[in-house]
Amino acid sequence: MQTTEAFVGLDCIDCGERFDAETATHNCPDCGGILDPAYDYDALDLSREDIEAEPFDSLWRYDALLPFPREAAVSLGEGATPLVECPNLADAMGVGEVYFKDEGHNPTGTFKDRGQTGAMTAAAQHGADTVALNTAGNAGQSSAAYAARAGMDAHVWLPERAGYTQKAMVEVHGGELHVTEGEITDAGTAYAEAIADEDWYSTKTFVTPYRHETKKSMVYETIEQLDWEVPDAVVYPTGGGVGLVGMHKGAKEFRELGLTDELPAMYAAQAEGCAPVVRAWEEGKEIHEAWGDENITTVLNGIAVPDPGASPLILNALKESGGGAVATSDEAVLDAAIDIAQTEGLEMGATCAAAASGAFKLAEEGELGEDDTVVLLNTGAGNKDVDTLRSHLGEREFDAAE
Ligand SMILES: *Cc1c(COP(=O)(O)O)cnc(C)c1O
Ligand SMILES: [Zn+2]
Repeated sequence: MQTTEAFVGLDCIDCGERFDAETATHNCPDCGGILDPAYDYDALDLSREDIEAEPFDSLWRYDALLPFPREAAVSLGEGATPLVECPNLADAMGVGEVYFKDEGHNPTGTFKDRGQTGAMTAAAQHGADTVALNTAGNAGQSSAAYAARAGMDAHVWLPERAGYTQKAMVEVHGGELHVTEGEITDAGTAYAEAIADEDWYSTKTFVTPYRHETKKSMVYETIEQLDWEVPDAVVYPTGGGVGLVGMHKGAKEFRELGLTDELPAMYAAQAEGCAPVVRAWEEGKEIHEAWGDENITTVLNGIAVPDPGASPLILNALKESGGGAVATSDEAVLDAAIDIAQTEGLEMGATCAAAASGAFKLAEEGELGEDDTVVLLNTGAGNKDVDTLRSHLGEREFDAAE
């Protein structure tokens, strides 16, 4: 297995045991907990200049802080996305500055590519020939793309409600598409039944230890793009919380290495129609309670995740960073996406716009101050959700004409 110098193994977040990454591939062999890549930070001598000297071409520029070296990566050039200033949005929100981390620039149009490059590199290192996962949609498309790149087969389970683009592109990449009735949880049940008799390699959220790991790079890039200034707040459209947990870990690493002094306050933005993390946060709990499938009333597929298994990690990141959680209505979310498209010209995914409407609400509540620098994660391209956005525009026009 090709690994980096500082990478020392996988730590179980529940029992604390450390495992060799060669043999432990997914959840903790002892207790089933989530495994988290660990590093010997003391052995790392990494300066801002060292990092800046790497070409800004993909997230593998940060491979000193990742488990695998660039040469081993199954990569499509993911990451290295723009950070775009939004003066009109900052004015409207009443905060100092707003930046838009535009993950729509990734190979398959969402930040899921940042996770899949890590998971698929691990799969290749472990000699896998078939990968499998259940997903709300975007991770499935991404997984099929990276499997194609690695010369592997991909099996993808997703719920009916996933978009046409995501379903179609799984097949275009040569993946095996399984569409299930119900929600992402039902897709998960079908996936688990199918995978039980196979030796397929899972690239599922927080089952592979590597998806949140390569998503750390979003915070590294953001801080570097802000000339090493740590933003006051990052607002993140939260489903399973992979990127949020990863970004918080990355921010702590930069601080540990002496590259920065602070942590950005992480905010989880959800839809009112499926907000298990926000509910747990508001009730001061350390773990969520599942949101009943029958109570899911949001059209925002990417964050319609009723039972996020890593909620203790998410809630801990919110607390440790001094952030919080916020839910807004689908109407507010889709309005925000359209307003941003019209005032800033930026294409925000429907799901992603929960970060924008959430930030507006946080600003109104005084959580974000007038001098704050706020980063909105645009987790995916607007044109992946074109149907949802266009139909909301139609409703707005209809209402205006009434
Ligand atoms: C998956 C997804 C999310 C949610 O990401 P998590 O890391 O699982 O919370 C948000 N937006 C888009 C576009 C997604 O595809
Ligand atoms: Zn364990």
